[in-house]
Amino acid sequence: MVVFSSLLIGSITILVFYIIRIKRRLARDISDRKQSEQREQTRNHVLELLAHGAPLATILEAIVRGVEQEQPAMLCSILLLDNEGKHLLTGAAPSLPDFYNAAIDGIEIGIGAGSCGTAAFTGQRVIVEDVQTHPYWAPYKELADRAGLGACWSEPIRSASGKVLGTFAIYHHQAHQPTDDEIRLIEQAANLAEIALGRSHADQALKESEKLLSDILENVTAYIYMKDTQGRYLFANRLLRERFDAPMEEIVGYDDNKFFDADTAASMRKDDLRVLQKGETLQTEETNLNLLTGVTDVFLSVKLPLRHEDGSIYALCGISTDISERKEVEEHMHHMAQYDALTHLPNRALFNDRLQQAIAAAQRNKAHLALMFIDLDKFKPVNDTYGHGVGDLLLKDVALRIQDCLRESDTAARIGGDEFVILLPTIETEQDARKVGEKILHALNQPFELAGHNLQISSSIGVAVYPKHGRDEKLLVKSADIAMYHAKKNGRNNVKIYQPGMQEISQ
Ligand code: GH3
Ligand code: MG
Repeated sequence: MVVFSSLLIGSITILVFYIIRIKRRLARDISDRKQSEQREQTRNHVLELLAHGAPLATILEAIVRGVEQEQPAMLCSILLLDNEGKHLLTGAAPSLPDFYNAAIDGIEIGIGAGSCGTAAFTGQRVIVEDVQTHPYWAPYKELADRAGLGACWSEPIRSASGKVLGTFAIYHHQAHQPTDDEIRLIEQAANLAEIALGRSHADQALKESEKLLSDILENVTAYIYMKDTQGRYLFANRLLRERFDAPMEEIVGYDDNKFFDADTAASMRKDDLRVLQKGETLQTEETNLNLLTGVTDVFLSVKLPLRHEDGSIYALCGISTDISERKEVEEHMHHMAQYDALTHLPNRALFNDRLQQAIAAAQRNKAHLALMFIDLDKFKPVNDTYGHGVGDLLLKDVALRIQDCLRESDTAARIGGDEFVILLPTIETEQDARKVGEKILHALNQPFELAGHNLQISSSIGVAVYPKHGRDEKLLVKSADIAMYHAKKNGRNNVKIYQPGMQEISQ
C-alpha cells in the first residue's frame, strides 16, 4: 500500500512537472509568436512608409518604435554618419533622454567612442553588455549613468556597396547580454534602416542631378525645347518661355503655329520632320518673326532626335542660339569694309569692283562708260574757317547732291578727303558725260546751309570715257584724274574731258 501510494505521488509529481513545463513552453510560444507578428508588422509598416515616400525621419522613428514595442525593455537609436564620414548625427532616438541625445549628436567616430562610434568606425557589430565596465564606454560612463543606461549593442548600417551609413543601437537600463534572437532583431532593424537610407540617398542624388540639369537648362543663354513627333512642345526652358511670353502649361501641347507666323511654322516643321522621320541631326540658321513681340531674330539651331532604347524616335531636342547681334555686327563690318563711314557712299574697294564689272560688261557689249573724278575746290579753308565738324557736314551734303544728279545704275563713291568718283555705265557719248558733270558742278555751286553757316563751294571735275581714254581700269582712272587736274589748272569750278596730250602738261 505504502509502495503504491509513493508510486502515485511520484507519478503525480512528474505529471505536474510536465504540465508546468508544457504551460511554460506554451506561454513562450505565444510570446514568440506575438514578437514575430510585431516584427512583421513593423517591417510592413516601414515598407509602406517607404512606398508612400514618407520623410526619412518618420521612417527611422517607425523602425525604432517598432523594435521598442516588440521589446519594451529596449531603448533604441539610429545614428547617421555625416557626409564627411567622421561624425554621428541623431537620426531617431525618441525614447532616450534629450540631454543624452544632445551629448551624443555629432560625436566623432573611432575605437573607444562608445558602442556606436566604434561600430561606425570599424564597420563591425559592437556588443557592450555593461557600459560601466567596458573600455569603449570609459569617456561616457557618467553620461550613461545619468541616462540610466546599462548595456548598449550597436549594429552598423551599411549600404549595398558596404559603405557605413550609420548605426542601429539597442540599450537596456541594466547590464544585459543579447540572446540569439535579439542579435537577429538588431540585424533586421539595421537592415530596414539601410533600405530607408538607401532610398533617401538615391532620392537625394536624383534631386541633385535634376537640380543641376534644371539649373543648366534654366540659366543657359540658349532656347532649349523638346517637341513630340507631332511637333507639339513637351518642354521649353526659361528663355524660350520668356520669348513666347507664356508659362510652361501654355506652351506644352501646342505647336509652332501658336507662336510663329504660318510660313515660319511650316518651315520649322519641315526641318523638324527631317529630324523626327529621318533621324538627322540638323544645324540650321533660322530667321524667325515672333508673333507676340513682332521682333525678327536670327537663330542658329541644332536639332537632334531623341530615341527610345529600341532606337525609335519619340521626340526632338532643339537648342537655338540667338545670333542676331552677331549677324548685325557681321553686316556692320561688311558694310564698313565697303562703304565710307561719313557719307555712306561706296568706298574705293567697292567702287573698284563695280568699275571692273562695268568695264567687262562694256567690253562684251561694245558699249561706252564714263568715269568722273570730282575734287572740291579750296575745301581746306572750309575746315580752317568753320571747323572740321562743319567740313564733315559739307562732305555729307555734297554726297547727297551728287547722288541727286545720278541715275539708279550710276555709282558715286568717296575715295579720299574731298575726292569723289562716279561711274556712269550707260553713257553713249562724251557729251552725255559732260552734261552729268555740269549738272553736278551746278548742284555743288548752290549755297549750303550748315550749322547756321551759309557756305559756297565749287568743284573741279575730270571725265574719261571707255574705251577711248583707257581700255582698262587703270588707264581710265589715270585719264580721269589727269582731266580733273586740268580742270583745277584751268581755274577750278569747271568740267574737263580727257584729251590726249593732257598727260604731258600734268607731268
Ligand atoms: P584744292 O582746291 O586744290 O583741291 O584745295 P583743297 O583745299 O580742297 O585741298 P585738297 O583737295 O588738297 O585737300 C582736301 C582736304 O580735305 C585736306 C584735308 O584737310 C581735308 N579732309 C580730308 N578728309 C577730311 C574729312 O574726312 N573731313 C573733313 N572735314 N576734312 C577732310
Ligand atoms: Mg580739294
